[in-house]
Amino acid sequence: MTAISLGIPTVPTRLAERRKSRQIQVGSVAVGGDAPVSVQSMTTTRTSDIGATLQQIAELTASGCQIVRVACPTQDDADALATIARKSQIPVIADIHFQPKYVFAAIDAGCAAVRVNPGNIKQFDDKVKEIAKAAGDARVPIRIGVNAGSLDARLLKKYGKATPEALVESALWEASLFEEHGFRDIKISVKHNDPVVMVEAYRQLAAQCDYPLHLGVTEAGPAFQGTIKSAVAFGALLSQGIGDTIRVSLSAPPAEEIKVGIQILESLNLRQRRLEIVSCPSCGRAQVDVYKLAEEVTAGLDGMTVPLRVAVMGCVVNGPGEAREADLGVASGNGKGQIFVKGEVIKTVPESKIVETLIEEALKIAEQMEKDGVESGEPTIAVAG
Ligand code: SF4
Repeated sequence: MTAISLGIPTVPTRLAERRKSRQIQVGSVAVGGDAPVSVQSMTTTRTSDIGATLQQIAELTASGCQIVRVACPTQDDADALATIARKSQIPVIADIHFQPKYVFAAIDAGCAAVRVNPGNIKQFDDKVKEIAKAAGDARVPIRIGVNAGSLDARLLKKYGKATPEALVESALWEASLFEEHGFRDIKISVKHNDPVVMVEAYRQLAAQCDYPLHLGVTEAGPAFQGTIKSAVAFGALLSQGIGDTIRVSLSAPPAEEIKVGIQILESLNLRQRRLEIVSCPSCGRAQVDVYKLAEEVTAGLDGMTVPLRVAVMGCVVNGPGEAREADLGVASGNGKGQIFVKGEVIKTVPESKIVETLIEEALKIAEQMEKDGVESGEPTIAVAG
């Protein structure tokens, strides 16, 4: 049937169709296929310190983390896995380097998945058959986590450095070894600290296999730089439908990684938008302190889960227009704020009452949204200032 255009402009909801990947199950979380893109992080505690690790996992869970990875460099860490996997509320992935024996320990411990780095596990290729058998029997997926910093020596020699081609060849070679044993419960990552190389590697990988892909810019740096690098790289890939699960790597507390990851997905409309503050950058025309106003409104609405869009605008140039487009907004000027709800001016209040009025109205709208069972925000394009 041919669609008939009624001349009504439409707003795109997604930038691209998701790449069709095979779906795997990481504990309770489906990864790949039509499952939503999930957000992961990794603990920074010693895994052998069970209490501290579980405490950090609880904090990550509260911040929205869906899958957590824990390092397993020693026997004490391996011994702690069973308790951690049992008590964690989200699936636990054991991260294994160097020692293949910990792969088996992690599977026995009930971890939801195991990440292996073929580049630095001794005689890894010789162990694939046993690992595939153990993982297959336990229905535990394997993440083949290739990393630019620990690329297989053979490929490093062949390519001279960790090029996209080298990362992809390493990953697909390892995957093929598992496939030989009929094991395909695999997801793959090919991380690099340079977003350009990383994006190209994932593009090539996506074209050459149907495994779900775990996105990451490795060693992305401190919070500011790492956030930018990750947002740019994930944005480039997710906007093409590539990526099934993400991890933002920051030299910062892990919960920060989750905040950034969630925000990236919300920005691309790959996850339900929650509170969205549209505030102008302010300029010489501003008649109120926009930064302060935006901060106070954001703080006052912290924790809101409905997809409410609030516009905080500094003057009457774009203010009324933006405020009208939002669920709720204020356009300020002359010591007053015009308050808009769903496009209509409902009142004008003195500047000193703007914040409390916005919060009051936001709570009313949120309550109504909850009653109406609103689950997702309309995609919005904010142009301010
Ligand atoms: S709405 Fe635009 S013009 Fe007005 S203060 Fe903000 S940035 Fe400046």
